[in-house]
Amino acid sequence: MKQRLEKMNLKEKRVIVRCDFNVPIYNGKILDDTKIVASLETIRYLIKNNCKIILLSHLGKIKTEEDKLENSLEPVAKRLKELVGREVYFSKEIMDPEIPKRIELMLPRDILLLENTRFLDVPNKLESNCDPQVAQFFASLADIFVMDAFASAHRNHASTTGIAKYIPSCIGFSVEKELVALDRFLKEPKHPFTVIMGGAKVESKLELISALLPKCEHLLLAGGIANSFLKALNFNIGSSLATDSSKTIEKLKQIMLNYREKLMLPLDAVVGSTYDDHYIRYKRINEITDNEVINDIGTKTLEKYKEAINESQTIFLNGTMGVYEEERYSNGTKELFNLLKNSNAIVVAGGGDSVSAVKILGFKEYFTYLSVGGGATLEYLTKGHLVGIDAIMEEEEIEILDV
Ligand code: ADP
Ligand code: MG
Repeated sequence: MKQRLEKMNLKEKRVIVRCDFNVPIYNGKILDDTKIVASLETIRYLIKNNCKIILLSHLGKIKTEEDKLENSLEPVAKRLKELVGREVYFSKEIMDPEIPKRIELMLPRDILLLENTRFLDVPNKLESNCDPQVAQFFASLADIFVMDAFASAHRNHASTTGIAKYIPSCIGFSVEKELVALDRFLKEPKHPFTVIMGGAKVESKLELISALLPKCEHLLLAGGIANSFLKALNFNIGSSLATDSSKTIEKLKQIMLNYREKLMLPLDAVVGSTYDDHYIRYKRINEITDNEVINDIGTKTLEKYKEAINESQTIFLNGTMGVYEEERYSNGTKELFNLLKNSNAIVVAGGGDSVSAVKILGFKEYFTYLSVGGGATLEYLTKGHLVGIDAIMEEEEIEILDV
């Protein structure tokens, strides 16, 4: 078991926390503060323990100087201040000799948020390449490191795995909650266990499919992933999104050979067309023509998938049934969520778009657990561990150090 925050001796300590403040921001306004809210339990606990609190996070992708303009964490500092009800100091500098001096002057319970760690990626990728000097600098700012960014725990970065090499470390409450839920529901799932996978690209999900197939009774497919399987079966999928790689097609054929009785593929579809934006038709899978594009699953598919869903005790969903962002192609995803709503199974969703779709379409309360981890969740389910969690000390190690 990894060291937990509650077991740490925090009294009068300087604590540096890797948070996940990677929130959607548009024109300086935070569109969804769920991730900031998720950090509050850990931050409040540190306040209660009279710690000096230093917060780190990345925001967005930073490849150029221009990317920095849109991705400052300053709006997060403001929102966090409102949520915790105390001042949150913000440092525009990330690595600067003034920062240790500033921390020296901080009082217990003061909070300092440093600018987006990925600003250090331009030009030399110091954060993303886990530069030891950056990691040591962060570590020098504090006595204890708390990893509380589950969604970044698959990254080997200076602010994730790096700091933990130099100072005692533990997991924060939001990481603990996520690990406990994923382990409890999906490590040894109650059977029958059904996995539902839709979404865009099959390549990024192949390993996950391979990891889950031996564990589950049914794998229901949709989206670009299903299209790729249909293509491997020589169906005409018209101009639908699917893999172009012959290597992937071979892998899919192998999967179908090994797990034929577990796989379920769409029987029908709602299709658009490449040349007419208003064209929309209902088609059986064997009726699709060259210019048509599969954008959603149809009712026959839903009827078939309902049988597997209704006999399941655990269901894991990743990816959407169609292009849910467009109203006319959101029905398959909505109706599938209705089937999940009416089932008695434990229902867990993971993946960035999947969880967004659940929330946007209004089904949040019917899910047993919505994972916050995005890509990290999928990697945890695929590999069973994450570098950013591996880096954290074990319970016993910390007892020896007595920090
Ligand atoms: P997650 O982010 O949860 O892992 P994905 O990104 O794989 O999920 O899946 C969601 C995306 O898949 C959505 O953007 C949706 O538009 C797209 N998608 C689903 N079905 C199709 C389809 N038939 N054709 C093209 N894109 C699709
Ligand atoms: Mg996605």
